[in-house]
Amino acid sequence: MTRKLIVLMCFLLSVAGISQTYKAIDTADYLQRKEFLKNFTAHNESLIKGLRSKYSGRTGSEMSKIYKEFGTDFENQVKNKDFVFKSEFDAVIKSLVERLRKNNPKVPQDLKILIARDNTPNAYCLADGTFVINMGLYNWMDNEAQVAGVISHELGHKIEDHTLKSVLNIVEQNTLDKSTVQYIKETTDQRSLGRNEKAFDILKNRIYKKSVEKRKLEMQADNLGYVIFKNSDFKKSEFINGLQKLQTFDTISPRELKIETYKKLFDLPKQAFNEKWMKKEDFSLYNYNFYKEKLNKDSLASHPEMEKRIESLKKTFPELNISEESEKPSEAYLALKRTARMEILPNYFHSEDFGLGIYVAMQFLQDSEEEKYYKNWLGKCFSKIYEARKKYNLNRYLDRIEPKNQSESYQQFLNFMWNLSLDEIKNISDYYQANETIVKSK
Ligand SMILES: [Zn+2]
Repeated sequence: MTRKLIVLMCFLLSVAGISQTYKAIDTADYLQRKEFLKNFTAHNESLIKGLRSKYSGRTGSEMSKIYKEFGTDFENQVKNKDFVFKSEFDAVIKSLVERLRKNNPKVPQDLKILIARDNTPNAYCLADGTFVINMGLYNWMDNEAQVAGVISHELGHKIEDHTLKSVLNIVEQNTLDKSTVQYIKETTDQRSLGRNEKAFDILKNRIYKKSVEKRKLEMQADNLGYVIFKNSDFKKSEFINGLQKLQTFDTISPRELKIETYKKLFDLPKQAFNEKWMKKEDFSLYNYNFYKEKLNKDSLASHPEMEKRIESLKKTFPELNISEESEKPSEAYLALKRTARMEILPNYFHSEDFGLGIYVAMQFLQDSEEEKYYKNWLGKCFSKIYEARKKYNLNRYLDRIEPKNQSESYQQFLNFMWNLSLDEIKNISDYYQANETIVKSK
C-alpha cells in the first residue's frame, strides 16, 4: 500500500514538475525587434536601390516593386510577433551554423537568424541574408544533423542566389501578371482579418511554382547543400534521413482522434456528452468511395518531388547509398525539441488557428500528455471559438469540411465543432477556463 502510494506520489510530482519547469518563450523582446526592423528596412532599401541601378527600365521597377512587397509583408510579420528574438534556440543554432561554416568558406558571415512561430518544419533565407528557421523544424526532425541538412539546403539556395534569379526570371518573362499582384493584396487583407496564410509564403511559393526551373533549383540546392553538409562533421546519411523525415510531414497531424476522447473531454458535470454532436454531415453528394482509398491512408501528405530529389542525390553522391546508424541527438537538441513541442499550441494560438489548436490539444490529451497544460490551451481556444461564433465569423478560425482533402478523423472533428451550439461552446470554454484558474492559483 505504502509503496503504491509512493509510486503515485512520485508520478504526481513528476507530472507537476514537468508542467512547472516549462517556461514559455519570452516575448518581451521589444528592443531586439525594434533594432531588427531598423536594420532590415535599411538593408531592404539599399537592396532595392542596388536593383534599380543594376536593372534598368521596367525590369528594375518591377523587381523593386516585388522586393518592396516582400519587405512590407515581412515587416508586418515581425510586428505581428511571428518571430521570436531571444530564446534558447539562438545559441544552439549559432553553434550549428558555426559547425557548418568551419570547412565551408562560402557560408556567409553575416547570417542573421530568426526563429519563426511556425509549426511547419521549414527554413528559408531572405534576400538580405536573414535566415528564418521555423520552430517546427525542431519539433519534427530527429537530431541536429537533420536540421543542419535543411539549413545546408537553404544555404545552397542562398549561395546560388536562387530567389533573385527566380524573381528576375519572372519579371523578364513578363509573368508577374496582375493576378499575382492581386493575390498578394488579397492574402495581405486576409491576414489582417486573421487568416494564417502569409502573403510572403504565398508569393514565395508562387514564384517557385510558376518557374519551370523549380525542380532544377531544388536539386541544385540539394547538391550544393550536401557538399556543405559533408564538409562538416555530421553523419552524411542524415542529409537523406532529414529529407525522408520531411516527406512524412502533414500540416494536420494524422493521429486519429477516438470517439472515447470526445466523451472523456466533453462529458462535463454541467453538460453531459451529447451523441448528436458526433453526427456527420451527409456527403453522399461527393463520390465518397472515390476518395476512400486516399482517406484510409494514415497520411494525406504527398511529396512526389522529394522521391526524385533523394534519387538524384544518391546518384550524384554514391556514398549516400550506404545506410548508417542514425546520429544520437544531443541533450541540447532534445531540450529544444521539447520546447518546440510545448510551443505548438502557443504557435497555433498566435496564428489564430483556434480550431486546429483544439484538434491538436485533443490529440495530446488523448495520449495523456501534459494534461494540465493542454487542458489550459483547450480552454483558451474554446473561448476564442465562442467569441467568433458569437460574432458569426467562426469560419475564419475553423475549417469547413472538405471530404476530398481531410482525413476522416479531422472531418469528424469539424463536424463535432460545427454541431456545437453557442451555449454548449460557452459551457466547454467556461469549464476549461475555470480549470485554468485552478492551475494558475497553484
Ligand atoms: Zn529548396
